Amino acid sequence: MNNVIQHWRDGKSFAGTSTATSPVTNPATGEVTGELLLANVEDARAVIDAAAAAFPTWRDTSLAKRASVLFAFRELINARKEELAAIITSEHGKVLSDALGEVSRGIEVVEFACGIPHLLKGGYTENASTKVDVHSVLQPLGPVAIISPFNFPAMVPMWFFPIAIGAGNTVVIKPSEKDPSAVIWMAELWKEAGLPDGVFNVLQGDKTAVDELLTNPKIKAVSFVGSTPIAQYVYATGTAAGKRVQALGGAKNHAVILPDADLDLAADAMVNAGFGSAGERCMAISAAVAVGPIADDLVAKIAERTATIKTGDGTKDSDMGPLVTKAHRDKVASYIDAGEAAGAKVVVDGRTVIANGGADGFWLGPTLLDNVTPEMSVYTDEIFGPVLSVVRVETYDEALELINSNPYGNGTAIFTNDGGAARRFQNEVEVGMVGINVPIPVPMAYFSFGGWKASLFGDSHAHGTEGVHFFTRTKAITTRWLDPSHGGINLGFPENK
Ligand code: NAD
Repeated sequence: MNNVIQHWRDGKSFAGTSTATSPVTNPATGEVTGELLLANVEDARAVIDAAAAAFPTWRDTSLAKRASVLFAFRELINARKEELAAIITSEHGKVLSDALGEVSRGIEVVEFACGIPHLLKGGYTENASTKVDVHSVLQPLGPVAIISPFNFPAMVPMWFFPIAIGAGNTVVIKPSEKDPSAVIWMAELWKEAGLPDGVFNVLQGDKTAVDELLTNPKIKAVSFVGSTPIAQYVYATGTAAGKRVQALGGAKNHAVILPDADLDLAADAMVNAGFGSAGERCMAISAAVAVGPIADDLVAKIAERTATIKTGDGTKDSDMGPLVTKAHRDKVASYIDAGEAAGAKVVVDGRTVIANGGADGFWLGPTLLDNVTPEMSVYTDEIFGPVLSVVRVETYDEALELINSNPYGNGTAIFTNDGGAARRFQNEVEVGMVGINVPIPVPMAYFSFGGWKASLFGDSHAHGTEGVHFFTRTKAITTRWLDPSHGGINLGFPENK
């Protein structure tokens, strides 16, 4: 195997000492395309040390210079985004247009971070006490870790690193073992953009690498995105080691379709949000909750559209690509089996799909299940595949109760023509991101991205002003220059006069 995917340390590739590797595959062909080095503790420490060594200089680099590097990175990545999309498709499987969409949403965070001089402005109060002034500044934390999932190999790291770097931190990114090359490509681009060596580092690996990032005292904060059990573990372990942690977890997203909704619009939305990226999105719609008498019509309209979806190699003329690994494909298919056995009606069956791709690709076509009930595993579990379940309820209140009693709270949507109902829903639903006639309400970079309940551990969402807050700490400085009073010794608590 020629393609050994290495770490990135101090501005160059780094092999480390571990000999453990993990195969990287092209999901559309099943072919092994690379061997990923898996760090041991020594390798992890070497990468963290590089980030720690680069921090003092980067922290003191002017905001003007930091912003100019961000602008240069934005120009380079925008000019070469097709290359990055092709890398994503080759390891993740999503179709090229979808990979390009992911890159574009990531670039929006870089653009937001280009305004970092403005975002880092502190506050100043003159004469807070007589001839005493107070000001506050936002300072970086130090080396920070970003641990990302397989499903957005470029966008999720980009939710964090532009702001972290702009704010003066140095970073160590631990990408998913399944699709690690996108982040390495971006490391090379940062170098070209003029980022000093050691500010952006990549650590390849599994639990060993993650555990070192969570416990090494040089790492000051951890941004994690992945499944809920691992998010919980990362939050508990990182905070116990005294770090600031934001850990975004899994999801089970519902869309409510009220009887007055435009059913064609809703059916289009269910297909797009249920099957886009083969359902491997944390904002995918997994449960369509049909309220009242419209269920039969809605299911017919979704089925009609689902039948037109072309499943195949993401580099060809396909609407939907393969699943990320064979094991994941088989697990998702087993949920369809279990749903069918429990009494759900398989309206469109993806298990029999004939895909336009390699015979050994990890194929599963879009699947529509009707009459799904809340106790079925296809409903209770996060499936993370192209399976859309229709749950039938009689009233709005039942639909709301279903969502609010679910342990996850990442995204949700309502489809209606009734503004009052929509307004009530946005107020009452216990979910972090809400769409009104919008199925995938991913917030813009200048708002913050984050779910509630088991979808996020910690108190900061990603990017926007919450991202700036997460990657900085506030220092308040109290100053007296003019006419300092010599009041003599006074052990009392300072009072404002
Ligand atoms: P995952 O939890 O398996 O892996 C995420 C990261 O954790 C990877 O870098 C992986 O190497 C590491 N990891 C895995 N097992 C570990 C362990 N035992 N100890 C320490 N580290 C470990 O998630 P995934 O399968 O890569 O991604 C899919 C999941 O991510 C889904 O649950 C999805 O909902 C979630 N996700 C959430 C969001 C969000 O914003 N809330 C966004 C994208 C994905």
